Amino acid sequence: MAELWTLSAAQLHDLFAAGEVTAEAIVEAHLERIQAVDGSVRAFLYVDADGARETARAQDRWTPKERQEHPLSGVPVALKDNIVTRTMPTTAGSKILGRFISPYDATVVDKLHAAGAIVIGKTNLDEFAMGSSTEHSAFGSTFNPWDLTRVPGGSSGGSAAAVAARMVPVALGSDTGGSIRQPASYTGVVGFKPTYGRVSRYGLIAFASSLDQIGPMTRSVGDARRVFEAIQGYDRQDSTSLQSGAWAPEGTSGPWRIGIPKEYFGEGLDPVVRQLVEAHLEGLAQQGHQLVEISLPHSVYAIAAYYLIAPAEASSNLSRYDGVRYGMRASGHDLLSMYETTRDEGFGDEVKRRVLLGTHALSAGYYDQYYLTAQKVRTRIREDFERAFSIVDYIVTPTTPDRAFRLGEKSDDLIRMYLGDIYTVTANLAGIPGISIPLGLGEGLPVGVQWLAPTLADEALLGAVRAVESICQPMPWPEEVQQ
Ligand code: GLN
Repeated sequence: MAELWTLSAAQLHDLFAAGEVTAEAIVEAHLERIQAVDGSVRAFLYVDADGARETARAQDRWTPKERQEHPLSGVPVALKDNIVTRTMPTTAGSKILGRFISPYDATVVDKLHAAGAIVIGKTNLDEFAMGSSTEHSAFGSTFNPWDLTRVPGGSSGGSAAAVAARMVPVALGSDTGGSIRQPASYTGVVGFKPTYGRVSRYGLIAFASSLDQIGPMTRSVGDARRVFEAIQGYDRQDSTSLQSGAWAPEGTSGPWRIGIPKEYFGEGLDPVVRQLVEAHLEGLAQQGHQLVEISLPHSVYAIAAYYLIAPAEASSNLSRYDGVRYGMRASGHDLLSMYETTRDEGFGDEVKRRVLLGTHALSAGYYDQYYLTAQKVRTRIREDFERAFSIVDYIVTPTTPDRAFRLGEKSDDLIRMYLGDIYTVTANLAGIPGISIPLGLGEGLPVGVQWLAPTLADEALLGAVRAVESICQPMPWPEEVQQ
């Protein structure tokens, strides 16, 4: 039998349910793999070996029927460390949370447990999920398993790298402007951002609440679907959770009308990425799907709008870290200086930059000029998609304009870093589902393609992408971390 840590969630679950392997053996194999490669990848901030072993042993006592009934039984899962857990610390990649242990589990964690998943640890991220490289983590960078001198993307870089390097078959990430899809693209894994409101945000440490969404990162679309089915659904603890989001049928196998937005293939697109995405489009045409050129004219304003709305919401969400209610507290000669020193010492530069930007954008006199204008752009972007989806079933774009860049390469040029989000932020602004799937390697580095669907068409999107997965080159092994 192949090494257990090379298998998908579906394969592991089936072996376990059939009684061919124990959950304990599955957990041990993944812990050993983490031990062997995470010294060089640094995907994990915390590994709960004992907790995972205990859960596994409990599952080994289950009857075959119980194993069968839990769709993720026997499956090790990692969580981005902005998803709160009762039994493990949660850092959000920041010093300010100190040794914070949440008094409750996030809804997605409850749902994972209910589905039989074995939570094995917490993964690295840019501080408070602000970033595209994982370099903004207070606990050091994560490295790309395909080339350890490069970033894994971000902000869910730890989750992406953990899945790509076969340390876990499944990880959860969060996506506010691309943080699931971009690192998925950079590391050659599948990353799915569901429709806003399909997955509860209860227990997700808030960055920009009107954009944040949790989703799965896996090595196959089938696994992403299985995990999404387990974690989605209405939650009364999250007032933005959708009641209408009942599980829907997967939809037809086509042929579909596929929209190709001309604004997403313009200047600044890496020729290697362009070549692979265009080959994918050709493959789709050969399968009988109809490619339709469309326009999403307001996408050119998306980065500007996103980098006002997200920091504005962040500045409000992060005001709760004052040294009184959570984690770390610095000393000060009075209350105000205690607040100031705590925030000064606790937050990293990128977080401070965003809080400043957001506070400025929301301040009296500037609100109309910045925040309100950005909200109007957001409406236009949503309308662009509505118009497009009245004539096409799906939209296909590159996930990112480039491939994984070198550590430090964009650190002095943040505008370049922000521009890398150009193809992903629009789905968050519009609230629609988006998925990045790997197209293989372009000159040695993974390249992803993004598929977008109308609001609430999550199941249809997953079904469609599963059907086209077969025309994608299978991902080879990340050689840097091969044993
Ligand atoms: N890279 C984007 C940012 O820095 C998106 C982050 C995210 O989706 N959490 O804000």
